[in-house]
Amino acid sequence: MKVNPYKVVIVGGGAGGLELAAKLGGRFGPGHIVLIDRAAYHIWKPSLHEVAAGTLDIHREGLSYFMLAKDCGFTFIRGEMAHIDCEAKIVSLMPVLGEQQEEVFPARNLSYDTLVLAVGSKSNFFETPGASEFAQALDSTDQAERFRLKLLHALAKADRSKAENPGHVLNIAIVGAGATGVELAAELTQACADVAFYGLENLDPAKDVQITLLEGAPRILSALPEKMSTAAQQLLQARGVTIKTSVRIASVDAHSLHDSQGECYPADLCVWAAGIKAPAFLAQLGLACNRINQVLVDKRLCTSDPSVFAIGDCAQASWGDEGAFLPARAQVAHQQAAFLRPILASRIQGAPSESGEFRYKDYGSLVSIGHSRGVGSLMGVLTGKGLFVEGVFARLMYMSLHLMHHLAFLGIVRTGFLAIGRLFLKRGAPRVKLH
Ligand SMILES: Cc1cc2nc3c(=O)[nH]c(=O)nc-3n(C[C@H](O)[C@H](O)[C@H](O)COP(=O)(O)OP(=O)(O)OC[C@H]3O[C@@H](n4cnc5c(N)ncnc54)[C@H](O)[C@@H]3O)c2cc1C
Repeated sequence: MKVNPYKVVIVGGGAGGLELAAKLGGRFGPGHIVLIDRAAYHIWKPSLHEVAAGTLDIHREGLSYFMLAKDCGFTFIRGEMAHIDCEAKIVSLMPVLGEQQEEVFPARNLSYDTLVLAVGSKSNFFETPGASEFAQALDSTDQAERFRLKLLHALAKADRSKAENPGHVLNIAIVGAGATGVELAAELTQACADVAFYGLENLDPAKDVQITLLEGAPRILSALPEKMSTAAQQLLQARGVTIKTSVRIASVDAHSLHDSQGECYPADLCVWAAGIKAPAFLAQLGLACNRINQVLVDKRLCTSDPSVFAIGDCAQASWGDEGAFLPARAQVAHQQAAFLRPILASRIQGAPSESGEFRYKDYGSLVSIGHSRGVGSLMGVLTGKGLFVEGVFARLMYMSLHLMHHLAFLGIVRTGFLAIGRLFLKRGAPRVKLH
């Protein structure tokens, strides 16, 4: 009699889920390891601001999950998880529809022995009137691409308006000056200059495009060391970005934002990068969740159901013993995936479960400021003290994080070829994606 293999189902192939599926798949194979994602291809989410600015081409950057599944030894199933039945241990997926609403993959039910939720997070508009309607979030490649096209159209329109009205200015507002907002602001200054270089005759982006970064806290990058905020602020201001701190946006409309003090900020384009929440469906699964839908996990990353783990942005995990929680960062998702590997391996092998608790090691933070600069604070492994880095070196280190993510599932040779290939392709393409 054939015995069903022990099945680990991972939902969400992002910074945490894909690395976990690839490592376990390489060891146990597609009969044991199943990855589900609603998207057809993977992109490292921290590079979405580059897709939005057009400095990274999603059609080159995206890696097909079906290809990765073949290479890494897991089964890939495309679909959006809608529900789980914890009693019956079944995940329900919605059908995948094509552009004409035709069914590409049907609704499906999949059984699991252990489930890992790694579905990430999305923007939190905090119920600000008009925000979800008029501000663009950068949660997915579709949204980043949509913003890129809006930017190209807005620049072309501003170029025409400038010919008729020399005082015309294109206003771009970014709400939230965490890593996403800061990186996007820097990337946009570069992208606007590059688009103008390729054929805008009347627009001088340095004068005619006004990028404003609006932050509720008293300083930008408020979750990171003060030295990083100061350095990032100087670099952004040198690029002409206007920074307003201690500003609470109270409403957004088609052409402007209004703060709680009644101040109005004109905005032809608005990006919302002011906080996250986990997908709403998580709160309907019967698992313990917090106010922003994150699933509560214990020190072993296990949810209130012993057969369900959660990692990355969609989980609320404690940090230290003083009531703090881990931040929504790729580094956290990566370390949590590495922690779960031996626990899941023991379950598959029917061996006694690995003991131990997840301990996050903060190796510091790096923020990219355009294509040639960065700022960062690195934790000295030997000294335990923070080391401040900036400039080209910080930017190169930031780029190496992306490569290290690829390394986790492509291996050293393919990551090397991919990096070199992309370097050559860049030589033959415009500096910014124009179509
Ligand atoms: C523009 C930007 C810049 C950032 N910069 C940095 C940075 O510099 N450093 C840093 O550490 N962090 C950064 N972050 C945060 C970082 O991207 C996240 O913390 C990290 O990606 C979280 O990893 P994850 O595995 O939890 O989720 P994700 O990487 O978001 O992956 C979630 C996956 O789940 C899939 N999914 C979602 N819902 C479903 C569903 N219902 N069914 C099936 N699949 C589903 C998605 O398609 C996706 O593939 C940035 C984020 C953004 C948006």
